[in-house]
Parts: sequence; structure tokens; C-alpha cells
Amino acid sequence: MFLSREEAFGLLSQFGSPLYVYSEDILRARCRELREAFCGRIHPSFSIKANSNAALLRMIREEGIGADAVSCGEIFILEYAGFDSSEIFFIPNNASEKELCFAAERDILISADSLSQLEAIGRVNRGGRVALRINPGIGAGHCDKVVTAGHATKFGIDPALCCEAKKIIKAFDLKLTGVNQHIGSLFLEPGPYVKAAEALLAIVLEHFPGLEFIDFGGGFGVPYKKNEQRLDLAALRDGLFPLMDSFTAHYDNKDVSFKCEPGRYIAAECGILLGTVNAVKECFGRRYVGTDLGFNVLMRPVLYDSWHEVQLIKKEEDGGCASAPLADVTGNICESGDIIAASRPVGDAENGDIIAVGNAGAYGYSMSSVYNSRLRPAEVLKTTEGKFRLIRAADTLQSLTASF
Ligand SMILES: *Cc1c(COP(=O)(O)O)cnc(C)c1O
Repeated sequence: MFLSREEAFGLLSQFGSPLYVYSEDILRARCRELREAFCGRIHPSFSIKANSNAALLRMIREEGIGADAVSCGEIFILEYAGFDSSEIFFIPNNASEKELCFAAERDILISADSLSQLEAIGRVNRGGRVALRINPGIGAGHCDKVVTAGHATKFGIDPALCCEAKKIIKAFDLKLTGVNQHIGSLFLEPGPYVKAAEALLAIVLEHFPGLEFIDFGGGFGVPYKKNEQRLDLAALRDGLFPLMDSFTAHYDNKDVSFKCEPGRYIAAECGILLGTVNAVKECFGRRYVGTDLGFNVLMRPVLYDSWHEVQLIKKEEDGGCASAPLADVTGNICESGDIIAASRPVGDAENGDIIAVGNAGAYGYSMSSVYNSRLRPAEVLKTTEGKFRLIRAADTLQSLTASF
């Protein structure tokens, strides 16, 4: 953890509980690590649905990383954070013509997720550039909800329809500049990603000459459990580079570039979620540590059964016992499924202690809600100089009624 005990308590008393805290050092390290691993041959773009805080986006942009957006709201935030149209790739699914216009008017490249969307892009942007999201038929991910390619998912264009796609592109005088795919989220072994890249390259060789770029997608995992192995970026690179070499040797455009779309990998590990223990109880033999970390604040454990490490930070220094009893860490939402971490050795918690949740930087705040009319927390950045800066204010009671 990048916070001391004193810092954690100081932050909660200054900014309120719960609170998201991010480390600039870790965020920048992840960006650099990715860029260095791929030696400038695969350009990472940050998938901002993982974390769309403008302060973090500015740092990611400073690190030379582009951005992928899945909605007009994300495009709007990216512009606010200083991204140029040419640095944004719009990968929506089931977008309305109004949304497609929003991107086209800004000259942002749009990827079509279906032939029907491709026609809609043709109607709103006749003669413009376009990309295609291909489903290579291979998927991967930590649970079924995040597998986004293969034979049973709503995403991407079936390669069997490539000829149809080409007809539509011709009919609307579109220029196909690239293809992308995204096989799913959170893989820790390079195998499926490399296989899917191989499948995509074969499809491009067969159907799509003259592309400017090929985008292999995101899904790079991070170890959520202490003992999990990190994704071996060098092994991923060593799987991809030979495929890219042999592809380029056979392809007409020798200057074709390659991209990837990591979200989680860049943002997850730089974030910690801090919450406060408000109640501790024993009920029919089970122990519960009740906190203000409801699933409106961090949804992943409830939505995906995800594991996050939790650490108890005691009010009193050296207050914890070495082998604490197991307890469920629960939130304050009125649903029995509101458990952030089950059976963890934090049973010696007392009111006023802090629970720190690790790897909360991706799909944390960005998935938060005001369910139960609870306020979304503030976000704070720990800068490289060791200073703390508020980068998003918490909701207020007034914000709950502002849109009535
Ligand atoms: C969500 C998403 C990503 C990023 O996924 P991660 O698992 O966070 O890397 C990449 N591409 C597309 C199209 C996405 O929707």
C-alpha cells in the first residue's frame, strides 16, 4: 500500500469516508512499463471506462498514451482532459445515429460493431473514415460477463460477413482505416490474446488490404490476489512480434501500425479505496465487519464475484492481533449481497478502524452509483512529490435532488 496509517486516517478526516486514493507514481509506472514492453511497435490506448477521472487522463496522455471511448460522455471528458480528436478512438456498441454524429462531427474515428452500425456510420459520415470491430471467434476473461469475443457474445462482426461489410463500405464511399477486436477482460496468460491476434491478422490478410492500423484490444489482467503471477508482458510481446513480422511481410501496406486497448492494466493498481468500520457483529456464528463500502462505491465483488485484497488499518498503532478471526466485510446498502470481501482475517476490527481495498483504480469509481441515495465518494491523488490533491469532489445531498 502506498499510504501510511497516518496518511490514511488524515485523508479520511480531511475528505470524508469512503474515499478513492490514487498514486501518480504507480499510474505512470504502468504506462511506461506497457510502452517499454512493446518497444513502440504496439501503441497502447487507454480504455477510459476503467477510470475516467480527468486528472488521471491528463497524466496518461502525458505518458504518450491515446484513448478509447465507448460513449459520447467519455469523448466529452477526453476533450476536457486535453485529448485531440486524432488521439481518440470511438468504440461504441449499439450507438444511435445522434451519438455517431457527435463523434463524426469531431472527426473522431468510429469503429462499427455490426453491419447495421456500419450502415448508420455510412449515413452520418458518407465518404469518411471508419474502422471495423471484428469478432475473431476466440474469447477470454475472468468471468462470462466480461468475455467479449467468441461464439456467444453481443460484440463484433462475424468474420463470415467481411464481404458484406466491404459492400457497405463501398456503397457509402467509406475509407476503412483499421480493424480492432477485444476478446475480453482480465487475462493473466498471454495464450488466448496471441491466438486471437493471429486470427485477426489472418482475417485482415484475406479481406482488408491497405489498412493503417490493427488493434488487438485490451483485457490485460492484473493480479488481484497477493500470490497471483503478474501478466508477463515480455512473453506477450514475444508471442505477438513474430506474428506481426510475418503478417507485415505478406501485407501490402508495410507501414501498417499496431495498437492495443488496455484499461484495467493501466488504472487498477494505482487505486485504493478507503472505508470506515461502523459496526462489528456476530450473527448465528458468523462475524461481520460493517463498513461504509457499499456496492454503490465498488461494484466488482457483487457484480463479478471479484476478489480484492482488504487490509485492516487499526485506530491504535499495534492494535491488531496476529491471527484475527475471519469475518465478512460488508457495506451499508440494503441488500444481503452487499459483501465486499468474504471470510477475511479482519475479525479484530473495531468501530473507527479503516478498511483499505486494493487494486480499486479500475472499474471502481467509474462503476459507482448513488443506489440507496448514497453519495459517491471523493477522489484524491497522491502526487510524485507526496502531496495529496483532491481530483474529484464527493457528491453532496444537493446533487441528489439537483436534476428534479
Ligand atoms: C472495456 C474495453 C477495453 C478494456 O478492457 P480492460 O479489460 O480494462 O483492458 C478495451 N476495448 C474495448 C472495446 C472495451 O470495451
